[in-house]
Amino acid sequence: MAENKKDKKKGTKREKVERKERRFVPSQNQSSLYSGLGGMAGALALGAGVYGQWIREPALPWAQYLVAGGAVTLGIALWFSDLGADPIRVGPVGVAVEKGTELTRIAWCDLKRVYIEDKALRLEGDDLLLSVPLAAHPHAAAWILKEAVARVPDALDVKGSATDGLPEPKDGDGEQVVVENLQITGRHCAESDTAISFERDARLCPTCAQVYHRDHTPEKCVTCGGGLAGRAYAP
Ligand SMILES: [Zn+2]
Repeated sequence: MAENKKDKKKGTKREKVERKERRFVPSQNQSSLYSGLGGMAGALALGAGVYGQWIREPALPWAQYLVAGGAVTLGIALWFSDLGADPIRVGPVGVAVEKGTELTRIAWCDLKRVYIEDKALRLEGDDLLLSVPLAAHPHAAAWILKEAVARVPDALDVKGSATDGLPEPKDGDGEQVVVENLQITGRHCAESDTAISFERDARLCPTCAQVYHRDHTPEKCVTCGGGLAGRAYAP
C-alpha cells in the first residue's frame, strides 16, 4: 500500500502493461525470388557435379563444368540474397532489426538522424546505424517515418519527395508482437544520471522511450519535452 501511495504521488504507473509493436517481414521482390531460385539451381548443379566428378566411378567428363557453373551460380545467388532484408519491428520503444533470434534495437530517444541513402532508410544513433531497404520494407519504412514525425521530429532529415513511392501507413500493417529484449539495465537516468540496475526501477517516456529512474522522473521528458507525470511507464 505504501508503495502505491508513493507511486501515486510520483504520478508514475506501476502496472506492467504488455506493450506491442509491429513486425514487418520483407516483401518478396523479384530479385530475392530470382536469387532464391538461382541458389537452389546452383546448389543442385554443384551437388550433381561433385557427385559426377569425385564420387562416381568413372568420373563424368562434363562434371567439372557442372561444379564450376554450380559454384558460380550459387555464389551469385548468395551475393544477391545478402542484399535481401531482415524482419523489422516498429513500435513505442523504437525500431529493431531481427537477425535470426537477435534483435538490434535503437530507441527513439537515441536517434540522432533519420535519412534516406542508397534506397534505404537509415536510422543513425551514437554508435549504431540501422538500415531499412525501401524496396523490401515499404510498409515498415512508412511506419517508421510516421512514428518519427510524431516522436522525434528533430531527428528527421528526409525530403518529402524521397518518400513519394511509399505506401500510406495503415492500422492493419505488420503483425502485432509483444515488445521484448529491451535493454534497460545498464542505462543511466536521463535526468539524474543514476545507473538503472534493476528494470523495475526504470520509467520510460511514452513518446520517445527515454529512460528515467523511478525516483528521478521529471515532469517533462528532457529529450522530447513530452509530459511524463502520470504517463511514464514501467517497462
Ligand atoms: Zn521523451
